[in-house]
Amino acid sequence: MTALGDRGPVVVVGGGPAGALLAILLARHGHHVDVYESRPDLRRADIGSGRSINLALATRGIAALDAIDVMDRVEEITIPMRGRMVHLDDGATNFQPYGLHDSDIVHSVSRNALNAILLDAAEETGRISLHFEMRCRSVDFDASTARFTNAFDQIVDVGFGTIFGADGANSPVRGSMLQVNGGRFREDVLEHGYRELTIPANPDGSHRLDPHALHIWPAGGFMVIALPNPAGDFTATIFLPHTSNDGPSFASLETRDEVESFFAEHFADFAPLVPDLVDDFFDGPVGDMSTIHVQGWSWADQAVLVGDAAHGIVPFHGQGMNAAMESGLVLDQHIRDRPLDLAAAFAAYEAGRRPDADAIGDMALQNYIEMRSDVVDPDYLLKRELSLELEKRHPDRFAARYGMVMFHTMGYAEAETRARRQSRVLDQLTARARSIDDIDWDLAGALVSILDPLP
Ligand SMILES: Cc1cc2nc3c(=O)[nH]c(=O)nc-3n(C[C@H](O)[C@H](O)[C@H](O)COP(=O)(O)OP(=O)(O)OC[C@H]3O[C@@H](n4cnc5c(N)ncnc54)[C@H](O)[C@@H]3O)c2cc1C
Repeated sequence: MTALGDRGPVVVVGGGPAGALLAILLARHGHHVDVYESRPDLRRADIGSGRSINLALATRGIAALDAIDVMDRVEEITIPMRGRMVHLDDGATNFQPYGLHDSDIVHSVSRNALNAILLDAAEETGRISLHFEMRCRSVDFDASTARFTNAFDQIVDVGFGTIFGADGANSPVRGSMLQVNGGRFREDVLEHGYRELTIPANPDGSHRLDPHALHIWPAGGFMVIALPNPAGDFTATIFLPHTSNDGPSFASLETRDEVESFFAEHFADFAPLVPDLVDDFFDGPVGDMSTIHVQGWSWADQAVLVGDAAHGIVPFHGQGMNAAMESGLVLDQHIRDRPLDLAAAFAAYEAGRRPDADAIGDMALQNYIEMRSDVVDPDYLLKRELSLELEKRHPDRFAARYGMVMFHTMGYAEAETRARRQSRVLDQLTARARSIDDIDWDLAGALVSILDPLP
């Protein structure tokens, strides 16, 4: 049995949200931690396309950031979003609040700015060395060495005692580990891709849309969303099939005319918000999205995966980074619970966390349909209204599904199970209802009383 550090150096591969956060948690065990990151230091180099990419940060991510005492810094760079602003075909908007409480807020945050705070905090521990432009290629578990290539394409072998794979969805640490631990890997690639666009600020620096909402332009089989940035601009993302026989797709939008008429037809009120829309559309590649299923997250006391490397998901619930950081917290707790038996801690981490990862993977896929089409469906809107009303009347037993994922820290698997049961209640109550006034509240009370109390 070994404790952290017994076998030798503690190495984290990947300095993204999961890796940087986990490194800080591991350093608190009293060990020196080496983080190897393939990209240059994002605090010093311009490594993006110039576009500010932002993410939705919610309660689980905040809990993890709180645990490493950086949330006050992060708060300074976030914009609170209180709900979805759904842009309808006729140019009207419909604001759908995220929840009942003032605290039911999702925060828009720049991916790079958040990552920079985490890297600063890592360095401030005095126990973490950050090694940039070191790309992991493979791991040799017999020799306890990881092979990297540096900025000059030279091979560098690094010895480790325990290696933490926080190297994202294409994780080479995972690739090497699955060859020795007999685990399994499956990647379900979504048939839809995405492209990012920018809605610039007004000339006076103000936002061109309400900054306290996540904007959605639903179009049935595809959609555009936009999240605010502090500089007054919005990062918009169009999600569309890669190819399609019976509708628009990235493959069918090859010429300037095709792009112009596509936006004019499907996103008439969005198009004027983006000057040079066509150039912006063609600037940058179409991104892929997938769900990563891994069985075998660790190898003895030598290696373990965290974040997208273990459980990459599609982005439609705004939870990938939140889940990645929460997994860091969960893993650290397992190490603390079994301080003298790292292998057992890693096994317990996977046993407890994988069902949660599977659940959020499923819910993220379901949320794509919710965002691109359900948000304008009368049946969905009635159930949503009823859901919030039941939450108000029975706060100890009923919580809307979205809120359980975004504003609670109960396991994702529990949230999914509860949501399934609640969905049956909603189906029954709305079977003959056309509006909230038609709901039988006695029946509602009886049905909700059968649900387990909320944790
Ligand atoms: C379009 C889109 C929108 C999204 N929106 C949201 C959102 O709103 N909210 C949310 O919570 N999540 C969102 N996500 C998901 C989120 O970006 C990821 O889940 C999150 O970044 C995962 O963190 P991570 O640290 O595990 O992996 P990553 O962020 O991928 O970080 C991995 C790090 O490892 C480095 N690395 C990779 N390979 C190597 C190597 N071989 N050697 C060394 N280093 C390596 C990378 O450079 C990177 O720094 C979105 C994703 C996409 C694609």
